[in-house]
Amino acid sequence: MKVVLIGVGQAGGKITQALAEFDYERGFEAVKGAFAVNTARTDLQSLDIDTMLIGQDRVKGHGVGGDNELGAEIMQDEATEVMDELDGRVTSKADAIFVVAGLGGGTGSGGAPMLTRKLQRIYEIPVYGIGVLPGRDEGGIYQANAGRSLKTFSRESDSVLLIDNDAWKSSGESLEEGFDQINERIAERIGLLLAAGEVIDGVGESVVDSSEIINTLKGGGVASLGYASAKADEDPEENINVITSATRKALLTGTSLPQAVEADKALLIVAGHPDRIARKGVERARKWLEEETGSLEVRGGDFPLNSGRIATLVLLGGVERSQRITEFMDRAREAEEQRQQSGEDAATAFENDDLDDLF
Ligand code: GDP
Repeated sequence: MKVVLIGVGQAGGKITQALAEFDYERGFEAVKGAFAVNTARTDLQSLDIDTMLIGQDRVKGHGVGGDNELGAEIMQDEATEVMDELDGRVTSKADAIFVVAGLGGGTGSGGAPMLTRKLQRIYEIPVYGIGVLPGRDEGGIYQANAGRSLKTFSRESDSVLLIDNDAWKSSGESLEEGFDQINERIAERIGLLLAAGEVIDGVGESVVDSSEIINTLKGGGVASLGYASAKADEDPEENINVITSATRKALLTGTSLPQAVEADKALLIVAGHPDRIARKGVERARKWLEEETGSLEVRGGDFPLNSGRIATLVLLGGVERSQRITEFMDRAREAEEQRQQSGEDAATAFENDDLDDLF
């Protein structure tokens, strides 16, 4: 699937860059453009991709703190300029646009849904979101921001692929220490998904194509991505179990959104050397996914890669009714109520969030 990526805010920009780098290093050529927009100058300076600073007259390059309403307003006010910058970068070759953001902050949280709305009006191709949910240890204001952002982002986009920041972190590391590693994992996993529809030189044709990803995400709402990999045996018969067990892991423990198993639609992609992928394994794994997700629409396909491992990717569409999302929205609502009762504005609350109480 050929895509253009637009990162909004700090997390959005960093993840966009990581995805572009992964795609470039592996030679997949699925990423046709990568661009970052932010209200904070310093966050943009550390990026190698093309960038654009917005909101200079209002926040002077210092960012919006945790004020996602301000993030949305600035994006709205400068939408024409942002669209002008994007003009020519969204090539006719692109099958979709992905707007990438951390949902708990300000610029991405407010700006990404607003930018998505503007893009939808101009481009015919689908506009998807990649949204990062704050970890459980992040404060109430992050949860409240993310709740409001997710609601609007999923309304405006063709689907939001959600990544829970707690899902792909290594144990023992604090969230901040782990961001680079989480970003690499996001880049590898989403990067493989995007590349799955592309023809890779010298390894035969992929049987997954972009329309399968698009159809799985159709219907809007929230999507998730699961991933697992294992060493492949030379004998494909031996890989039946490798494929079924990697599929189980991808859905149950390797997912970007834990506790979200029920889905409207699913796509199973089995990546590996074409001579080692066992048809029977793919078929069994697909059947298992049908039962487990309760979906009547489970697609499947191979992604030929020159590798000694087999990787499974499970893309789920329509997971918004899952336990994880219901619980998250409840927490976000509570946090928002508390914030309103305390009378604190969002920016102040955000900055105070890292402070411990004195007693
Ligand atoms: P913004 O610049 O105002 O959009 O806000 P940030 O992107 O800095 O932060 C928003 C949220 O994104 C935070 O609550 C974190 O959960 C998350 N976040 C920040 N930086 C990163 C990052 O590099 N990687 C990941 N995965 N999440 C991040």
